[in-house]
Amino acid sequence: MLSDLEHLIRLQQIDTATEQIRQRIEAIPSQLASLQDTLEKSRATLVTAQDTLTDNKRVRTDVENDLATAQSQLSKFKEQTLAVKTNKELWAIQKEIATSEDKVRHAEDQILELMLAADELTSAVKEAEAALKAEEVRTKKETAVCESEKVKLQTELQQNTDTRSTVVSTIESRALALFEHISHQRQGIAVVEAREGLCSYCNVRLRPQVFNDLRLNNALIQCDSCQRILYFQE
Ligand SMILES: [Zn+2]
Repeated sequence: MLSDLEHLIRLQQIDTATEQIRQRIEAIPSQLASLQDTLEKSRATLVTAQDTLTDNKRVRTDVENDLATAQSQLSKFKEQTLAVKTNKELWAIQKEIATSEDKVRHAEDQILELMLAADELTSAVKEAEAALKAEEVRTKKETAVCESEKVKLQTELQQNTDTRSTVVSTIESRALALFEHISHQRQGIAVVEAREGLCSYCNVRLRPQVFNDLRLNNALIQCDSCQRILYFQE
C-alpha cells in the first residue's frame, strides 16, 4: 500500500476517534446538569410533603382551639340552664346548647380527619426523605463517574493529539493538504473505504476502472461524487 495512503487512513482513524471523544466530553456538562435537576426535583418533593404536613398541623391547632372554645361555651350554657326562670329563656338556651354541641361534634370530626391525614402525610415525608437520600447517593456516585471519565477522555484527547502530530510528520505535504482540505469541507471525514464497487460513505457506484485501480491501493484516488479519498480493504 502507498505509504501516504496508509498514513492518511491512520490519520482519519485518529480524527474520527478524537471527534467522538470531543462529543463525549461536550455531553458531560449536560449530563451533570440533568443529575442536579433530578436531585432538585427530589428536594422539591420533600419540601412540598413537609409543607403539607405543617399545614395539616396548623389547621389542627386552629380546630383544637375552636373545639376548646365550643366546649367552654357549652359548659357555660349548661350552667346557665340552672338559672333560667322562663320557658322562653330555657328554649333560647337549649338552642345555644344545640349549636355548641354541633360545633363540638364538627370540630371533633375534623380533628379525626386531620389526624388520619397526618399519618399519611408523615409517611409521605418519610418516603420523600428516603428518596432524596438515595438520589443524593446516586448523584454523588454518577458525578464522580462523569468527572473521572472526563479526566480519562482528556488524557486520550492529548494522546491522540500527540499521535496525530507524529503521523502528520510522516505524510508528504501535498497528500496532507488534500486530506486537510477534504476533511474541512466534508465534516471531518476525508478517507473512506471503497466496498463492493461503491464509495462506502456516499454509496455512489465507482467506475469499474476506478475500482480496479483502487484495489491496488497505490495512489490517492478520490470519489467522483463526495471527493473523499478512497482505499480498498482486503
Ligand atoms: Zn463518495
